Amino acid sequence: MDPGGPAPDPDPPPNRSVSGPLKVGPGPGPDPPRGRVYISPHTQTPPRLRHQLLPHRRRSQMAHAVSSLTSSTLFIRQQFQSRKLFQRPSRGCWTNSRQFSSSAAARRGFRVVRSDSTGGGYGGVSEISESESKASGYVWPDGNKRPRVCILGGGFGGLYTALRLESLDWPEGKKPQVVLVDQCERFAFKPLLYELLSGEVDEWEIAPRFSDLLSNTAVQFFKDRVQSLHPSDHLGMGGDTVSRSAGVVYLESGLLIEYDWLVLALGAETKLDVVPGAVEYALPFSTLRDAHRVNEKLIQLERKSFGNDSPIRVAIVGCGYSGVELAATISERLKDRGVVQAINVDKSILPNAPPGNRESAQKVLSSRNVQLLLGYFVRCIKKDDTTESHNNERYILELQPAERGVESKVIEVDLVLWTVGSKPLLAELEQSDKPIYLPLNGRGQAETDETLRVKGHPRIFAVGDSSAVRDGNGNLLPGTAQVAFQQADFAGWNLWAAINGRPLLPFRFQNLGEMMSLGRYDAAITPSFIDGLTLEGPIGHTARKIAYLIRLPTDEHRLKVGISWLAKSAVESTALLQDTITKMLSGQ
Ligand SMILES: Cc1cc2nc3c(=O)[nH]c(=O)nc-3n(C[C@H](O)[C@H](O)[C@H](O)COP(=O)(O)OP(=O)(O)OC[C@H]3O[C@@H](n4cnc5c(N)ncnc54)[C@H](O)[C@@H]3O)c2cc1C
Repeated sequence: MDPGGPAPDPDPPPNRSVSGPLKVGPGPGPDPPRGRVYISPHTQTPPRLRHQLLPHRRRSQMAHAVSSLTSSTLFIRQQFQSRKLFQRPSRGCWTNSRQFSSSAAARRGFRVVRSDSTGGGYGGVSEISESESKASGYVWPDGNKRPRVCILGGGFGGLYTALRLESLDWPEGKKPQVVLVDQCERFAFKPLLYELLSGEVDEWEIAPRFSDLLSNTAVQFFKDRVQSLHPSDHLGMGGDTVSRSAGVVYLESGLLIEYDWLVLALGAETKLDVVPGAVEYALPFSTLRDAHRVNEKLIQLERKSFGNDSPIRVAIVGCGYSGVELAATISERLKDRGVVQAINVDKSILPNAPPGNRESAQKVLSSRNVQLLLGYFVRCIKKDDTTESHNNERYILELQPAERGVESKVIEVDLVLWTVGSKPLLAELEQSDKPIYLPLNGRGQAETDETLRVKGHPRIFAVGDSSAVRDGNGNLLPGTAQVAFQQADFAGWNLWAAINGRPLLPFRFQNLGEMMSLGRYDAAITPSFIDGLTLEGPIGHTARKIAYLIRLPTDEHRLKVGISWLAKSAVESTALLQDTITKMLSGQ
């Protein structure tokens, strides 16, 4: 089945493109993360946990493997540099043929570690596969004269770390060369994805192209998918010298990037493989691509229901923030043409939200065509085989009560949206035959110390949904944009500090409050710094939009979006005024 139907594909398969530097400027200077104290009681020497991470024999094998790898990659880099295979672009995108030459690398015999699990040679630690061994190396513009920072993932954690590094003031010769890798060509401001469904925003506003965002910076962007990591810093390879290889990253295209510092920011996606049928028949709402697929499906259903009495039925699984925001947005869009059924295992919606947000959401949902099915979990999702055509697909959800004594339910719907559970994407890189030796928690997030460095890896930082960072009480911080955004500020600063031999700062999360969208003119905001206050309705909506406008990346983009939103609201107000006057004059 194609649950989404034909949809524009904003994230086509990796097809490398590089945004070239236009200007290299020092920015406003080193400005430590805002609003916090900067005295670090922590040592600059990170904890060495490799004894806990690898058994002794494995360690020595890894050391051997990585040392071969590192020298081979250095060899390749030098060879490529001397041949100038990779030219730095003056502006815009490089062509693939000029940039890469995997066949050239293969001809040079870049087979780093033999694939051999029988115990001979480096058997059992053969981390580099055949395809990886044919990888071509990226030549950094300044070789290893300046520190090389590779950032994986261009979301709230990765993109904002790159921008932070750009904004800092660097001593002569210390400004790092920065590469940002993302599988998509656009950054997605996820909290505003709902507004794509309501038509309130345009794609360029909330999902600008990386090449546009970074065009005035020295950050190189690669549109590519990260395939595997081969860090060597945990083996003491990085030493104390700031410009010394600390590992390599392999990209799906065959490109290999050797780095001195790595930032892991791959984020998370919805976990669908939870109940039978969810992968096949439910749509997630986690990426820009997901938002387009849901929108396309809604358009299809709206077209089909035109002149037809049967309502469009949408099931939303989960009544956390994402489920409730979707229920509010879709019910407002469908009005009396549709019914939204929101299912939650808890007996209430938003069980962990501040009471003000929960009450606002309850009010809004009860004023729309939303049925809450609380205290149920979805046992399975099936396709209704009695529906004949692709355009007419229906799904059956079997709901099981969470408590005894309540009857099971079966509901039939046209669209199923799944919002429960998330799957950090860092863990997806770790395949059984290619372990990456990062300390991951049970959810697949990298365990970090307070300075956001991955435990046992002095040259790797992890931020956002990829990282398992704990608060002062040892509780895992939530996977939110707010956390990722604040961590990016610290990661940028701590990279500056590490490169300049200054103390690193412990990350402290400051909870500023919680916000949610409840439709085109509705939202709820509960700030953490004013007890008991919740802004709701149009005021909450405007306050949320302003808060997010401020958080958009780069001054230039913020300005463009600010003007666009002002213009839209002026047009809307004029239309509303005209409508009111027309009604008054016609005596309605
Ligand atoms: C619909 C929705 C609404 C949300 N609303 C809010 C909200 O209101 N407030 C809030 O605080 N949080 C909200 N969140 C959560 C928030 O968006 C995330 O916690 C935040 O985006 C995490 O930032 P990140 O940098 O870790 O990951 P992301 O922002 O997800 O970025 C990760 C990036 O890595 C890239 N990537 C992943 N794997 C690879 C790979 N193998 N190779 C190359 N690139 C890769 C992805 O393309 C992506 O660009 C929302 C999330 C969703 C889905």
